[in-house]
Amino acid sequence: MPHTHELFEAASRHIPGGVNSPVRAFKGVGGEPMFFKRGEGARMISESDRSYIDYVGSWGPLILGHANPKVVRAVQETAAQGLSFGTPTVLETRMADKVCDLVPSMEMIRMVNSGTEATMSAIRLARGYTGRDKIVKFEGNFHGHVDSLLVKAGSGALTFGSPSSPGVPASLAEHTLTLTYNDADGVRELFEHMGGQIAGIIVEPVAGNMNCVPPEPGFLETLREVCDAHGSVLIFDEVMTGFRVALGGAQQRYGTTPDLTCLGKVVGGGMPVGAFGGRRAIMEQLSPLGPVYQAGTLAGNPVTMAAGLATLEQIEEPGFHERLENRARELAEGLEERARAHGIAMTTNVVGGMLGIFFTEDEQVTRYHQVVNSNLDRFRLFFHGMLNRGIYLAPAPFEACFLSSAHGDAEIRETLEAADATLAELG
Ligand code: PMP
Repeated sequence: MPHTHELFEAASRHIPGGVNSPVRAFKGVGGEPMFFKRGEGARMISESDRSYIDYVGSWGPLILGHANPKVVRAVQETAAQGLSFGTPTVLETRMADKVCDLVPSMEMIRMVNSGTEATMSAIRLARGYTGRDKIVKFEGNFHGHVDSLLVKAGSGALTFGSPSSPGVPASLAEHTLTLTYNDADGVRELFEHMGGQIAGIIVEPVAGNMNCVPPEPGFLETLREVCDAHGSVLIFDEVMTGFRVALGGAQQRYGTTPDLTCLGKVVGGGMPVGAFGGRRAIMEQLSPLGPVYQAGTLAGNPVTMAAGLATLEQIEEPGFHERLENRARELAEGLEERARAHGIAMTTNVVGGMLGIFFTEDEQVTRYHQVVNSNLDRFRLFFHGMLNRGIYLAPAPFEACFLSSAHGDAEIRETLEAADATLAELG
């Protein structure tokens, strides 16, 4: 049986950091990443043949758990007919019809291959449609590794952004303005000063990349209001929340309608995917109908469409999202109860199948600074204590945990038992 350390060394020879995406590297929690070879329902089997209850779900797509039989069958049957044609297929039309039906603000949709491509394209489209360059985003939100969005706030709220990664030109970053998530007044103030220059706002309607932080009442409504008042495009990045926090996404749950929506993860059922869509008048600006260019060799790939459709068809079942959320709440309440019993300050946020765990004295977490100032060392210890007991949580304090419909009573019980033992050690 290979040792994880040897596998990691072998991976690191030709793959930077041994990983194909940095968040897999355990940098936030210390140690070396684990290698998994098989998944079944709520569980994953490591290369050293140990079973773990998985709360990462491939970072969101696996809302039905691992290797869902209907999804796997759809993939196998479709793949047997050919992997890609580079022509329109009927499966793409079925997918477009299904998504536009479930998310009514999406009157038209285009499929891409990742969430990053979706947000990058939506931003280009917002800029092309409005003829403006400035984009507003929020600190702690993440939209993939798009140049215009790898930007941090300048020295003051109303100053232009600076690159958060080498390789992003400062001349591009200066078009991105970064505000505080859940600070409606900050949004209003910025738009008063320069609304006429702003192409659009991009926001995670439930923040899932600063752990899990829901929008405060009125925040999303304010974004809608200022975009309407100033002719800017409101973009909801629902790559994580789409089909997860409600069948119609966060926009259905919170009742605010964006102009454009970005999707990813669940819509591809575990295959590489992204999608963006929205108001017809905006989407018609896209090539070949309009002048805004965007394209993709494997966009709308039949195997991806089949996996996504097989997933969407199952989550449409009445009560699916209520059951998922109830399960997440049961887990969150159980965790809080055990933390209290061991004298450990902890709070949780739950939205649909998303769960945030924060080691903090604060009663409720609604702002980025609270996440950053929570006890990150304690999170690390908690993560490793849980991992040792067969529970695989998101290996970073800034990532939400995900539940799937495959997480049942047995998994919740086992997780809470592990938490009890781990918290006892930390107390
Ligand atoms: N937007 C959000 C909200 C995300 O969480 C992510 C990825 N976690 C992305 C965009 C980027 O998606 P991808 O990794 O598929 O490029």
